Amino acid sequence: APRSAPLRARAEIDLAALRANVRALRALAPGAALMAVVKSDAYGHGAVPCARAAVEAGATWLGTATPEEALELRREGLRDVRVMCWLWTPGGPWREAVEADLDVSVSGMWALDEVVAAAREAGVPARVQLKADTGLGRNGCQPGDDWAELVAHALRAEEAGLLRVTGLWSHFACADEPGHPSIAAQLTLFREMVAYAEEAGVRPEVRHIANSPATLTLPETHFDLVRTGVAVYGISPSPELGSPADFGLRPVMTLSASVALVKRVPGGHGVSYGHHYVTPGETTLGLVPVGYADGVPRHASGTGPVLVAGKWRTVAGRIAMDQFVVDLGGDEPETGSEAILFGPGDRGEPTAEDWAQAAGTIAYEIVTRIGSRIPRVYV
Ligand code: PLP
Repeated sequence: APRSAPLRARAEIDLAALRANVRALRALAPGAALMAVVKSDAYGHGAVPCARAAVEAGATWLGTATPEEALELRREGLRDVRVMCWLWTPGGPWREAVEADLDVSVSGMWALDEVVAAAREAGVPARVQLKADTGLGRNGCQPGDDWAELVAHALRAEEAGLLRVTGLWSHFACADEPGHPSIAAQLTLFREMVAYAEEAGVRPEVRHIANSPATLTLPETHFDLVRTGVAVYGISPSPELGSPADFGLRPVMTLSASVALVKRVPGGHGVSYGHHYVTPGETTLGLVPVGYADGVPRHASGTGPVLVAGKWRTVAGRIAMDQFVVDLGGDEPETGSEAILFGPGDRGEPTAEDWAQAAGTIAYEIVTRIGSRIPRVYV
């Protein structure tokens, strides 16, 4: 029986699968605490319900990019869990973050100065995690003099009671490419930067560098904590590493829609903008009422797969803002039938990875971009 409520479209979020994924990840990294990364609305799955489910399953940390995302978790009642955020810009809500007991990442002196000023105003010490750029070339403090200066100033503020250095951390560039030389180089530099800071007097609660691919495949990177994002949602970081099932993971999101129209058309009928598809003969077309405004990637025009009436169909012609068309050939499913764009795959439907391949992107982007017009239905 079709499971869809009479909705245009829905993203079903299987929180039992998410909890099982968190337990599987904890078993893979038994010596480390687990941070569930719930930035960008939990990669499109809904930050607050996913954060709660992850904590129920044993995540003791939550991670976000922006402070606003982290503050929302606190406002929504996630209080007995450490929450860390790492993407700051000058003038950010440092004082709110300190008062909400967030762990804040600091990559440079400007950020250290701002958090120290906020802690002084708040009259509460800040929890600060110093981020090292060990080779990603993105955020983080450069090794050498910059790191020495940051560590020295953080220690001085700690002695003054304005902060606690709770963590030393970094992020990988190529953990999803087994054997990539940058992995060992980053790991060596991370150990050196941690050792420098500890010799200078830093006593971190947690040292961490592992994202999902490192958690799944590189045990030597686990340290005190692993920061898993995409794996929590049951997606493999890269098809080259293996499928979700290879790691005991199950995809959490199923995206489906109600077929809005089924109609017979003659051969030679152009379909959708630009007529990039023309029916090869008399056939049946089905209208799937989701489009690029919902996050269905327009790059998958002519390639994206959908399960309708038991078979994979391919998007015919261009994906429009709100809808696209599939050629159903000889089949004539009823209007209102379920079209499954992606899910775990065990009902024969495509996966987010299949859509990533069809669109020339990664599965992270497929789930994260599913828009707010699609209701999330938690099961
Ligand atoms: N740590 C940081 C700093 C991140 O930015 C991210 C996400 O990109 C993660 C961890 C989680 O990465 P993944 O989804 O590959 O586990």
